[in-house]
Amino acid sequence: MLLASIGGMGSTEHGDALQVLQRVFGYPEFRGDQAAIVEHVIAGGDALVLMPTGGGKSLCYQVPALVRPGTGVVISPLIALMQDQVDALRALGVRAGFLNSSLSWDERRMVEAEFVNGELDLLYLAPERLTSEATLRLLEQGEIALFAIDEAHCVSQWGHDFRPDYLSLTHLHERWPKVPRIALTATATEATRKEILTRLELGEGRQFVSSFDRPNIQYRIVGKKEPKKQLLDLLRGEHPGDAGIVYCLSRASVEKTAEFLVANGIPALPYHAGLDGSVRQRNQARFLREDGLVMVATIAFGMGIDKPDVRFVAHLDLPKSVEGYYQETGRAGRDGLPSTAWLAYGLQDVVQQRKMIESSEGDLAFRRRSQAHLDAMLALCETVSCRRTRLLEYFNESGVPCGNCDTCLSPPESWDGTVAAQKVLSTVYRLRKERNQKFGAGQAIDILLGRKTAKVIQFDHDQLSTFGIGEDLTEGEWRGVVRQLLAQGLLAVEGEYSTLVLTEASAEVLGRKREVKMRKDPAPVRSTTRTASSSSGAAKVKVDLPADAGPLYEALREWRAAQAREQGMPAYVIFHDATLKSIAASRPGSLAALGAVSGVGQAKLTKYGEQILEVVAVGGPASPAAPAEAPKPKSRTTTTGGAAWGSGAEADEWPEPEEPDESADW
Ligand code: ADP
Ligand code: ZN
Repeated sequence: MLLASIGGMGSTEHGDALQVLQRVFGYPEFRGDQAAIVEHVIAGGDALVLMPTGGGKSLCYQVPALVRPGTGVVISPLIALMQDQVDALRALGVRAGFLNSSLSWDERRMVEAEFVNGELDLLYLAPERLTSEATLRLLEQGEIALFAIDEAHCVSQWGHDFRPDYLSLTHLHERWPKVPRIALTATATEATRKEILTRLELGEGRQFVSSFDRPNIQYRIVGKKEPKKQLLDLLRGEHPGDAGIVYCLSRASVEKTAEFLVANGIPALPYHAGLDGSVRQRNQARFLREDGLVMVATIAFGMGIDKPDVRFVAHLDLPKSVEGYYQETGRAGRDGLPSTAWLAYGLQDVVQQRKMIESSEGDLAFRRRSQAHLDAMLALCETVSCRRTRLLEYFNESGVPCGNCDTCLSPPESWDGTVAAQKVLSTVYRLRKERNQKFGAGQAIDILLGRKTAKVIQFDHDQLSTFGIGEDLTEGEWRGVVRQLLAQGLLAVEGEYSTLVLTEASAEVLGRKREVKMRKDPAPVRSTTRTASSSSGAAKVKVDLPADAGPLYEALREWRAAQAREQGMPAYVIFHDATLKSIAASRPGSLAALGAVSGVGQAKLTKYGEQILEVVAVGGPASPAAPAEAPKPKSRTTTTGGAAWGSGAEADEWPEPEEPDESADW
């Protein structure tokens, strides 16, 4: 038990949960469902917890593990992160250890002895450990407070994170029927939830389903024009000096993008499955430990990354599903501070993804499922209503327009694209049905625009009746039309060269039986007016810093960086940005006042309290009026790079991509 080690708390009643939260973690109160979950598990109940990334899942098992007698055994697939997780707990004065393949024999024996002697509050285990009888026998020698099954969706065979070893976790229940089990995940679809319940035999347990809304994340999906330049603008203009993740589809584009950012003065590292394990490990460790690094990665990166101050997640390619998109973007802003989820999306993405599904090795059912996933993702991209509402609907939640996404901040118009659609479709009809020729979107658009290119002349396409009937729209606008037709399934692509082909639904449009609504892409939203709306989203976002607290915040960050270097720890393990901001805003003058700041627990108060008070004293006199938590963020100020944020949207319009990035036949 930890309680003895920090003193003053003898009993192990349920009411101790709040005290543990305050003394150990330094947080004044539980958030959302946490209190109910913690109480349920402390009382010995099984639970399935569905909470978005950053929702605060860890406390749901850490607090009960500290309150109940014995050691909380945490099963986590994230071997590479166990050391960090354990370090972070130790920094709080919690007696934590882990067992995985990275330990030497001596180290392992020591952790095992600590467990058997009841000297551990939390023990982290890789799931494959539990398939060995030796580990199970070890666990029988100690007292177990609970089993926490982290990333529980890994039990799902249909999910992309499936780990066969997770299937063996059912045995825990048979062997330790009295020990409560709590399974946690941020993957929320109904199907996954059901699979977790059956596979882990958690049917009797209680389910806690939190809202999946992440109000501090601003969702933006922009038209892809010059993706790298657009990315650079985003990073320079809105996130100078910030840590963030850039997702790319292919290893090659990961490497190229990382090089491009570095060449432009932005510290960036690559991460993908093709890199050597040691390089991956090193890059990940640097991303976690250093301030302001950008990780350019494939989706191989990210699960379990609990760096709280990731300020943006940018996608340069279209994710394959809304679920994937939500998981990836969810890695931004775990600390509750304003963050950006930005996706650049264009015609080429739709073609590429449709093609990938078509040529995949999977069976028909697999392809259908992939199509459905992609369709949902495309619908999100093409929506004219609030992105957040659409996202939440996907997770069976309802919401009101959020005021903190691009469609809320700069509402797109919709227009009747029926005639434009007919022009494209009849061009495709003529090429395919009349001439049996195979061409992609580029040629169709050239024909509509009446361009006498070499290829148009070579194939006599200037003789087609649709030649030149599309001069009312620009090339970019035509690309938008084709993109939306593909997105809506009114057109399809086929074969190696992404030939355009008609679908069954095309006939309805050509036969004037169906109207086609299209989205007129609005001016891009840049930076933010985070007070734009009083509705749900923006108002719940945590405060940013009052202007006069900036210098002190900087001084505190410097102090923290020095500490982190000295101890070889990520800076956020010492204190989160949000905690330093609260300190800078409230300027505590005593240990008691400092201890009242959210995120300052007893162990850290003892260890760092005096030093912090000194930084505060030197950093400037206390200003009595400065509130610890201002009611609402104004516009966002960056404290790292010193660049001010512009406000409002930029007026320049953007067409569809002229030159798609890695275009082959487009
Ligand atoms: P998850 O595992 O659900 O992604 P974490 O457990 O990492 O989320 O928590 C996300 C962040 O929120 C962490 O930085 C954590 O310290 C913080 N947090 C969690 N619970 C609380 C709380 N009750 N009060 C304040 N901060 C909290
Ligand atoms: Zn919105």
